Amino acid sequence: MEDKSMIESIQTFAARQALAFIERDPEKNFSKLLDWADKFDAGNLYQAQRKAFRQVLEHPESNWYQLLLRVFQLDKGVRETFLENFIINASLIGGTRQQAVRHQENCNVPWAILLDPTSACNLRCTGCWAAEYGHSLNLETDTIDRIIQQGKALGVYMYIYTGGEPLARKADLIQLCETHADCEFLAFTNGTLIDEEFCQEMLRVKNFVPAISLEGFAAANDSRRGAGSFDKALAAMRLLHAHKLPFGVSTCYTSANWQDVTSEKFFDMLIETGALFAWFFHYMPVGSGAVAGLLSAPEQRRAVYERIRGFRQTKPLFTMDFQNDAEYVGGCIAGGRSYLHINAAGDVEPCVFIHYSNVNIHNCSLLDALKSPLFMAYHDGQPFNGNMLRPCPMLENPEKLQAMVKRTGARSTDLQSPECVDSLCGRCRPYAEAWAPVADRLWRETHQT
Ligand code: SF4
Repeated sequence: MEDKSMIESIQTFAARQALAFIERDPEKNFSKLLDWADKFDAGNLYQAQRKAFRQVLEHPESNWYQLLLRVFQLDKGVRETFLENFIINASLIGGTRQQAVRHQENCNVPWAILLDPTSACNLRCTGCWAAEYGHSLNLETDTIDRIIQQGKALGVYMYIYTGGEPLARKADLIQLCETHADCEFLAFTNGTLIDEEFCQEMLRVKNFVPAISLEGFAAANDSRRGAGSFDKALAAMRLLHAHKLPFGVSTCYTSANWQDVTSEKFFDMLIETGALFAWFFHYMPVGSGAVAGLLSAPEQRRAVYERIRGFRQTKPLFTMDFQNDAEYVGGCIAGGRSYLHINAAGDVEPCVFIHYSNVNIHNCSLLDALKSPLFMAYHDGQPFNGNMLRPCPMLENPEKLQAMVKRTGARSTDLQSPECVDSLCGRCRPYAEAWAPVADRLWRETHQT
């Protein structure tokens, strides 16, 4: 163990020197970072990523190169911390440690942990699971601290806050950023609590990145989140941009808003306001208030797939389309394969959308949770479908989640109204059946040998 921590210290020192070298002349020296990464990535865990980076550097006119330049316009201290935490800690050192634990324990070990500091929110958005959870649940700061300590021992340096509105506890979150300066923290937020004082705190701790939720333009956003929320979110984005702070946007696409959020106008608005990334989530019909009618029709989902991939070739914005990009991560990433979720009551769930569990973090360790029956069912069952456009054991393969929950005796963790897995999966089945032939055709078209 001592040898291991000495090797990690040497790696960290060497990496810091390399990053400082890049900072002196990013455009010229970036390729040297890749040469350096080749040396540290002994297991070739990130070979494909390095190859992609090299291609970007060879094409300065490309949107990806422009995105890289935008990263180098960020506050220097924040950028340096991000590069160190994300590349060195979360990916190189963390990746190697995760791999070792995976081997040793024969279970999944995640790259990131999502957790809900609170179920409280200052808004009441239609269809948000946080609204269902009531306003009384919080993960104590000590509990979050313990989760992070255990996570780091497993190699996890990425922590992502969901909720509730995480910034309802912004003082505690800043304290955790200070305590764990070697980790990167990201928060899904409605943005309405971001102000000048919080921007100054972000500049001081340097390791906190907000992802602001937007449902489209003003009409769509305010109809779900309340009057004035769009303007407040945009004001927060402009404030972050003015302070050279990194941020992105998260969007849930539905049958109602998919055209807006995948339009060129929407992409351009995000770039103009300074967003560096946009994460697109497919609407999930979870909870008693779920509206199956908001699920996209097959042709709508296919159009989303095509539009987002199209803009990936032209717009300086890093996008992830969570239900359509599974091919890049080998299918479903939940159950600790790349991430897990801990709700505000402490229930350890495989995914932020899968509200079933056997374990609670208040009376088990993170490693115990990874070895719990439902997590092991994920471990043994992944990938859930050979067609990566049908990755989910709930949305596209509902019979799989139904069987796993029943076999493992996992209980519903929906805090407002426990949901029987039969009714949840029954709600997903018509969608899965309609999407399957379209997805299979699209997969064949795009993956012909
Ligand atoms: S369980 Fe479904 S929604 Fe969650 S990560 Fe897996 S595929 Fe995605």
